[in-house]
Amino acid sequence: MFSYRHAFHAGNHADVLKHLVLIGIVKHLTQKPAPLLVVDTHAGAGLYRLDDDYARTSGEAADGILKLVDATLAEPAPAITDYLEAVRGVNRSGALKLYPGSPFVIQPLLRQEARDRLKLFELHPTDSQALVAHVAQLEAGRQVSVARQDGFEALKALLPPPSRRALVLIDPSYEIKSDYAKVVACLQDSLKRFSTGTYAVWYPIIPRPEAHDVPRRLKTLANQAGKPWLHATLAIGQREEPDPVGLEERRRPGLTASGMFVINPPHTLKPALSAALPQLLEVLGRGRGKAQTLESGG
Ligand code: SAM
Repeated sequence: MFSYRHAFHAGNHADVLKHLVLIGIVKHLTQKPAPLLVVDTHAGAGLYRLDDDYARTSGEAADGILKLVDATLAEPAPAITDYLEAVRGVNRSGALKLYPGSPFVIQPLLRQEARDRLKLFELHPTDSQALVAHVAQLEAGRQVSVARQDGFEALKALLPPPSRRALVLIDPSYEIKSDYAKVVACLQDSLKRFSTGTYAVWYPIIPRPEAHDVPRRLKTLANQAGKPWLHATLAIGQREEPDPVGLEERRRPGLTASGMFVINPPHTLKPALSAALPQLLEVLGRGRGKAQTLESGG
């Protein structure tokens, strides 16, 4: 347990998809004056170096954020512009040295005056310590709290929030096979406690039945609860061009596809992603198997 470190994967294609979707949701939910609670059940370290040993060993950001930053899109979709702005926001000196994890993607969009709150949970001893230190730099006071607790369990006590407005990001590492079932159980329980909350789940698309079942089971849950849902996937496909720096050899067999499943998505999310996903694929797609999908229901 706990061999997963997000630092190896920070800024990869899966982070690009996840964080772009996340920004689209938070930006919409912060339009209404009532306070918003955001819960990040698996928060990671918050901020990552793109030039440290982790990032250099994996090289994953090269096929994600670094490629997107270098791309020359004639007319970038607004969701892509917002996402790049979030990444630039933690790189004030100009050079791209840091990558914002979900806490640092969410927090700048929250409002002090509206009393929005961000509750972060991270179990890994080193990452939770790093998260506390990174969050301290934000000087966000009571707006942001960090706890070294099981995010699945901690969420129960937070729903429903007093303001009746919440976004929950569920982004486990799926290091343990039981995470797949936990995600579904967590959504089932959360929808009972607070059926109008917005829930965003990231999952890997890998040849494993439990992973394959995640969107199918979440669709069933949302449909049974009579709630709308949205499902976006991005597959960058296999590398086709020669790999001059030998990155592929140094890597573990890499993840090439992932999905975001959102229950009670803002109505603005689907049009935003319809514009952004084809552009993401154009820039990040590599070869055989590259694809993007966007479906919704409810
Ligand atoms: N959400 C982060 C982001 O987008 O920047 C990345 C999170 S990473 C995919 C998953 C994290 O969950 C890891 O840092 C891992 O240590 C942590 N973790 C694993 N099981 C957990 C649990 N039950 N509760 C809270 N954190 C957990």
